[in-house]
This record gives sequence, structure tokens and C-alpha cells, in this order.
Amino acid sequence: MKEKYQILARRYRPQSFKEVIGQDSIVKTIKNSILYKRIAHAYLFSGTRGTGKTTLARLFAKALNCKNLKDETEPCNVCGSCTEIAASRSLDVIEIDGASNRGIDDIRQINDTIGYSPSGKYKIYIIDGKSSHAYQRSL
Ligand SMILES: [Zn+2]
Repeated sequence: MKEKYQILARRYRPQSFKEVIGQDSIVKTIKNSILYKRIAHAYLFSGTRGTGKTTLARLFAKALNCKNLKDETEPCNVCGSCTEIAASRSLDVIEIDGASNRGIDDIRQINDTIGYSPSGKYKIYIIDGKSSHAYQRSL
């Protein structure tokens, strides 16, 4: 049951904000920050598994570095930056597994990359942590 759920969540990853279902307020907030170019240094997404935290973080990263935004806020999914982020090959978007308990490796990964300027507009670190439920169970 658990595996089936994960596979489904991985298979269906929205590639644009309009495909995201049930997160209207956060989608609106993110789109407004892109539209008005008011980007904070960090964003914290919280919620239970499968609610779209990582999906939204990746979409936001794509929109921030997209070279041809559609409707002013939607990533084009065609430009070099969008395709690299979708394939997890972008040097500007670094995903760190914050749930792995390998703190030193994670910090090293940040230290090794932070000195290089982004090739696009922004350098983005997505630190994917544990849900509080999973965290409590591991204590
Ligand atoms: Zn793009």
C-alpha cells in the first residue's frame, strides 16, 4: 500500500502551477512573489507526506530560473534551465536529502557548491526533510 502511494506520487509530478491541485493559497503566494519580484531568501514548506512540498519547491525553482516564463509566472518547461531542473541535472538547483542523517555530507555538499555563481538567475537549495510523523517515530 505504502509503495503504491509513493510510486503514484512520483509518477504524477505537476510541471506547472496550474496543474497543482488543492494548494491554491500557497500557489498564489508563490506566483505573486514571482510576479512582483519579491523573493525571500528562504521558504519553508510544511505539511504531511504527499501534499506537494517538494513538487512546489521544484516548480518554484524552475519558475525562478526559467528563461521564457509563460503568463508571467509559469515555467515554460522547454528552456535549458527548465529541462535541466526536470532531469535533476541543474547546477543551480541542488537538492539535499535532509532526512538521511548524514549531516556532514550535506553541509559539505553546500560548502562545495555555494562559492560558484549560478549560471541562471538564482542558486537554489532544496533541503528535503522528514515529516514530523516520521521524525517522531525515529526518536
Ligand atoms: Zn523555462
